[in-house]
Amino acid sequence: MSNEALSNLLHEERRFAPPAELAAAANVTAEAYAAAEADRLAFWDAQANRLDWAEPWTQTLDWSDAPFAKWFVGGKLNVSYNCVDRHVEAGHGEQVAIHFEGEPGDSRSITYAELQREVSKAANALTSLGITAGDRVAIYMPMIPETVFAMLACARIGAPHSVVFAAFAPDALRARIDDAEAKLLITVDGYNRRGGIANLKPNADAGVEGAASIQHVLVVRRTGQEVPWTADRDIWWHDLVDAQSDQHTPEAFDSEHPLFILYTSGTTGKPKGILHTTGGYLTQVSYTHNAVFDLKPDTDVYWCTADVGWVTGHSYIVYGPLSNRVTQVLYEGTPDTPHQGRFWENVQKYKISILYTAPTAIRTFMKWGDSIPAKFDLSSLRVLGSVGEPINPEAWMWYRENIGGGRCPIVDTWWQTETGAIMISPLPGVTSTKPGSAMNPLPGISANVVENDGTVVPNGGGGFLVLDKPWPSMLRGIWGDPQRYRDTYWSRFAEQGFYFAGDGAKKDEDGDLWLLGRVDDIMLVSGHNISTTEVESALVSHPKVAEAAVVGAKDEVTGQRIVAFVILRGGHAEGEGLDDELKAHVSKALGPIAKPKQIQFVPELPKTRSGKIMRRLLKDVAEDRAVGDTTTLADSTVMDLIASKLPQAG
Ligand code: ATP
Ligand code: MG
Repeated sequence: MSNEALSNLLHEERRFAPPAELAAAANVTAEAYAAAEADRLAFWDAQANRLDWAEPWTQTLDWSDAPFAKWFVGGKLNVSYNCVDRHVEAGHGEQVAIHFEGEPGDSRSITYAELQREVSKAANALTSLGITAGDRVAIYMPMIPETVFAMLACARIGAPHSVVFAAFAPDALRARIDDAEAKLLITVDGYNRRGGIANLKPNADAGVEGAASIQHVLVVRRTGQEVPWTADRDIWWHDLVDAQSDQHTPEAFDSEHPLFILYTSGTTGKPKGILHTTGGYLTQVSYTHNAVFDLKPDTDVYWCTADVGWVTGHSYIVYGPLSNRVTQVLYEGTPDTPHQGRFWENVQKYKISILYTAPTAIRTFMKWGDSIPAKFDLSSLRVLGSVGEPINPEAWMWYRENIGGGRCPIVDTWWQTETGAIMISPLPGVTSTKPGSAMNPLPGISANVVENDGTVVPNGGGGFLVLDKPWPSMLRGIWGDPQRYRDTYWSRFAEQGFYFAGDGAKKDEDGDLWLLGRVDDIMLVSGHNISTTEVESALVSHPKVAEAAVVGAKDEVTGQRIVAFVILRGGHAEGEGLDDELKAHVSKALGPIAKPKQIQFVPELPKTRSGKIMRRLLKDVAEDRAVGDTTTLADSTVMDLIASKLPQAG
């Protein structure tokens, strides 16, 4: 981004007030903002008290060694106890914690009492393998209940886990094992994917090959096919875990004890190993899950469609929801197996009331067509969430109308692996929402938009998103690399002491926040900073467009020229003149400055495994150079497809 302010081109006038009934019974009301504003630390003390502590803390925040924070100093607690045992002790042992839905249609419901037994057995098994507090455990698993058991078992014995997406290649697994020096790998024989079986064990074997720290590989049997086996090293889960006692007394750990290491999605480059700890993390994920989704544990059925391999799965499938005694759905498969209505079939089958998904999924559903969700009963839904990328206003409207029946509030939640928990989001019973805006920092959270020199931009302006006060679930560093932690997040606005999020944002006339994508992606066209998000949203507002990715490619005349990659909605062909029609459409919505110079129709876009568009790869294509790091790309054939569609790149 140049010294020019970020242009604010998109104007959105639609407003949606919270449903009266929801507002009247909401878990969190507008007073929370004032309470947190009056005394931020006291506010977080109160949220920490929603948890069960074995020993109280003596200091809420120690920021004396900034940017290395300590929250709830001196306090002790066990995360697994807070997510499982305390609910059983309070008489909720028979409540279903997890409705597991396998891709082939097999299902299994696990109560909190069973969860306690399974997690206890797994914790005993880990201990029997010599894993003790502080040892790292790598988890390379799909979306099955044992993955949740394994994470909670690690937390229970104080062994930080490092979860690696099952879809990652062996090299990515090995890099993560080596970086954390994990002693144990937990994996599966295979899992169900698109009607077939993904064989994971051979990948796990290739990943641990040469990984000196690994002593054992614990293997869950999910799909049952023959797998390669290394005697002495490999152990079946059902042999070891099932033989253990289902009693286990959790030990309380220090509030700052490491809970997990998780790598960022790698959208902007090499993934970073983010470290999260115990007390502050659990406090904020628990609070935000309760507040943002208005969770009513006795009646709601919650479904977060994320994979546990990314932070949303950690914070909003495992730790936040279970600490709040949720009943949730865990789904193994893809949205289009065996048919494109599978998600809606799940909603209907389990009467899901809260759905948390990503813009990439929503745009895919738009592409598939309105008639698919229309075939299912979605009347159980009452709150809808979005995470992962800016949500285009038209995708937001589609979600509201076609999934939410025009009645469910949408919470667009901005956060990062680094922030650990939701930071900016509407509250469903409080906020009047605007399609495409994440609205305001949550109570207790402070964010702002600043210019290059760190001065705060006025309403109506755009710039860099910063977090200007420490928060409980903030990262405690990058594993093994304190200097990279300082450099990446704290050097950009060192003078002001702001955390640099790496995202562009604008404040509208009301002061509400609009996320505008990565700072690195912002385009500089004839002296104007233009966000990729605004141009993409303008394209998506055309009735024939399902999804768009925009990049700025080097241009001798204008500095950069706007190149758009467009996926059409189901039933539309690229036909004569459509690219001119789309260029005119953008020009009308945002002004001629934002008009793409080149539009390329493509069948797919390059995305990370967590569903984010990897613009840097498209930029490589548009500028006609070899594409960069693709290790976190979901489907490596996509880049070839796109390159083959380009007449003459550059
Ligand atoms: P890397 O840091 O390795 O490039 P990443 O940033 O994609 O990877 P994540 O932590 O999974 O890794 O993603 C966080 C980013 O996702 C945010 O910085 C932001 O760009 C984007 N994001 C998440 N939620 C939203 C949202 N609701 N609105 C806009 N952007 C969002
Ligand atoms: Mg990031």
